Amino acid sequence: MSMLEGDVTFSFPARLDLLVAGGDLIDPATARWGRYDVGVVDGRVVVVAKEVPRHLAAQVVDARGCLVLPGLVDLHTHIFDGATYWGVGPAPLAWRTGVTSWVDAGSAGAYNMKALWRSCAGMAPLRAKAFLNISAIGLVAQTGECTRDELCAADLCAATLSEHAGFLVGVKCRVDRAATGGMGLEPLRRAVRAAATAEVPVMVHIGAGPPDIDDVLDMLRPGDIVTHCMTGQGMSLLAPTGRPRPSAVSARERGVLFDVGHGSGSFAFSVAEAMLASGFPPDFISSDSHQFSVAGPCFDLPTCMAKFLALGMDLDDVVRAVTVSPALAIGATGAGSLDVGDPADLAIFEVAEGDFVLFDSTLASRRADRLLVNRATLVAGALLGPLAAEPPAPWVQLTDAQRALFEREEAELREPWAASFTSAECFTPWG
Ligand SMILES: [Zn+2]
Repeated sequence: MSMLEGDVTFSFPARLDLLVAGGDLIDPATARWGRYDVGVVDGRVVVVAKEVPRHLAAQVVDARGCLVLPGLVDLHTHIFDGATYWGVGPAPLAWRTGVTSWVDAGSAGAYNMKALWRSCAGMAPLRAKAFLNISAIGLVAQTGECTRDELCAADLCAATLSEHAGFLVGVKCRVDRAATGGMGLEPLRRAVRAAATAEVPVMVHIGAGPPDIDDVLDMLRPGDIVTHCMTGQGMSLLAPTGRPRPSAVSARERGVLFDVGHGSGSFAFSVAEAMLASGFPPDFISSDSHQFSVAGPCFDLPTCMAKFLALGMDLDDVVRAVTVSPALAIGATGAGSLDVGDPADLAIFEVAEGDFVLFDSTLASRRADRLLVNRATLVAGALLGPLAAEPPAPWVQLTDAQRALFEREEAELREPWAASFTSAECFTPWG
């Protein structure tokens, strides 16, 4: 656990739009951990210091007793809502989870990428980037997108990447029995070729083989990302010994990165425990939020974070895996960080202590003594207001428990400026 304190003297700006005061900041990007005030002007961080005079700020958020984190970066989501089998709208999730930067993981391919780009532009102020699917049709349907040769064209993929560099940050390829069928490793081979041309990483999904996991890992280059790295399915990173496979160890040694991508079928506590015990923590914790995961047992990114806390990962490592690490992996400068000059994206959490039960995607459970409860989410210094969860798509079959959850969520929708921030003593507009 790092306990670095920045000992810098600031000259304060004459006027702040907003001051988030008295919270416990955890910002791995700047190695700041502890009590800090964060001052904002024009949507950007202008001061981070131990004590900023409150009278300088037009509005003060009293964050005492709360964790103040950079806005979270969820590296694996599916936000091509209304156009794909998996897509969900991020707005009803963002305001109550602290996720301010959303990375779509291959929902669109070359044929429908422009529609995803337009859709993401409409999600402002939320920030969005995307991995382009090697399959030109993306994830319109449940699976099978790479089973046809003509859908996986490396040249088309590379051309689309270069045309939309900045928004597109890499190539996604799902490699499992159903997604690739008889095409085997060929789609991944083409994904790597397209990514090499565009000088971006590949994110490869693993699940139920064939292909063989060792063959997949051996094809990856430094900076490429394996998502669903703690899957309990056939392409597990664990050898039968319960230790990480030699191919996974050697991939990590040469700079391949590992992402959780919890989702509805891709996270097993038993695998996570074995990997953590072997000194193989994930580089990124992501939710794989989609139609089939947001009603549980994945739920959202803070719940995924709580699962890793329950497994014994340090809080600062967990925060790093949802902020600066994913931001760096996609070249999103200023995201996942609260340095002076960065966008003022903030996620404010209460740490709820108690006896909680959390489930993985196999419905195995573990007890947790901490949950991260989002109290406020700000993008560019502005609070995101509450938004009811959208009902699931007609092709999603919820369990009774999941349906009850949707109803409860609607009933308990937070007021604008979450309860703790509306009361005078906690959210005080200063004149
Ligand atoms: Zn996914």
